[in-house]
Amino acid sequence: MESFSSPTVTQRDQILVEQQVFNIFKTFYNMPPSSQSFMLELQRENHVEYLTNGLKQLGPSFCVLDANRPWICYWILHSIALMDEFVDPELEDNTIDFLSRCQDPDGGYGGGPGQMPHLATTYAAVNSLVSLGSDNALSSINREKLYSFMRQMKDASGGFRMHDGGEIDVRACYTAISVASLLNILDDELVQNVGNYILSCQTYEGGISGEPGSEAHGGYTFCGLATMILINEVGRLDLSSLIDWVVFRQGVEGGFQGRTNKLVDGCYSFWQGGIFALLKRLNSTRGENSIPLGDVEDSGPDSPQSTASSGATGEVLIEDLSQGGSHTEKGDQHDTSSRVNVDNIGRNSSRGHAKVEPLFNSLALQQYILLCSQDLNGGLRDKPGKSRDHYHTCYCLSGLSVCQRSWSEDEDSPPLPRAVLGPYSNLLEPIHPLYNVVLDRYREAHEFFTGS
Ligand SMILES: [Zn+2]
Repeated sequence: MESFSSPTVTQRDQILVEQQVFNIFKTFYNMPPSSQSFMLELQRENHVEYLTNGLKQLGPSFCVLDANRPWICYWILHSIALMDEFVDPELEDNTIDFLSRCQDPDGGYGGGPGQMPHLATTYAAVNSLVSLGSDNALSSINREKLYSFMRQMKDASGGFRMHDGGEIDVRACYTAISVASLLNILDDELVQNVGNYILSCQTYEGGISGEPGSEAHGGYTFCGLATMILINEVGRLDLSSLIDWVVFRQGVEGGFQGRTNKLVDGCYSFWQGGIFALLKRLNSTRGENSIPLGDVEDSGPDSPQSTASSGATGEVLIEDLSQGGSHTEKGDQHDTSSRVNVDNIGRNSSRGHAKVEPLFNSLALQQYILLCSQDLNGGLRDKPGKSRDHYHTCYCLSGLSVCQRSWSEDEDSPPLPRAVLGPYSNLLEPIHPLYNVVLDRYREAHEFFTGS
């Protein structure tokens, strides 16, 4: 039949992308070893130069991103931090000054000076300042005003609006909750009913969509899952079907697609890859006693502030896990019937001691990032044939960092050489996967905002 023999546009595009990618792999595998190792090398100097130039001056084509300037700061500063580099003091001061001018007198950050405050650019501005990490940067954030801005963005449905009169979606929930948690201003008022909203966005496929009734998508699934962990309600999600969905998003190219039947794209190295980093930590919190997911140590039912009010639930989860997961079962208030037993996922104890095995092909993803997404002149891209940009540079590098530690029990011990594709100098700084900031910068910010 005619309709079966002629491919759809997407099928045709998929065939073209596969051909391009396979040609790159074929060329690579026919090269002498010395050329291969050059091809797999992360071109740090070129990336840093490309990124630093972007922080100083952008060409006229960037005017379409005028309402996203804090995002450009974050993509660049986080990428630089991942490579354990710093910006010079003058550029740092200029960036802090610029972001301060984006801060609304009534709280929150707009896309540029004088623009309406928006949750997404607030997240980008706060993550930029955390990535800079100095006291100057962190103290420039008006947390009190920011909290009242967030309260205004909170909708009766439980979700958050992106801005005054704006759309309610999973990104708005994530950016609000992530910022509130990082700044230690998360409380019950902000958390209330957010979980119901996220839950209503988990689709029949298992992934999470932007709004109820839409299609499951990598970016929203990361945002939804991270939010549920931060508010300590992750056990309400159907994690079994979420895992089913995400494991099948890795394609023959080694990279991830964002949605079913879509093309591979480097930025999903983090949006999908980051989901595995979150799941790995959930798994290691659980241990032999089958502790409910999302339990928080010091907020039992009698606690005056329940579950998420410590403002650092993610930190509790993360830090406790690296200490072997000693939670006790208390304070959990949700139905356990939907929980899946993920205790043994990714664990292999065949040689007498547990080791972590990623639920995705980490080396194949690294190969896609380094050979297909990397521009050897600096910057990373969506896929071969596309141009580099700061967004893809940020999320390809974030995904690469996740991959390199996907076999590690914890972030503080360096990964084995075989977990890092290419020379070991490719190793990037570890990230805190709930916020996507470099782990050390997260710890500095946590100390700064909690005084502990
Ligand atoms: Zn992309």
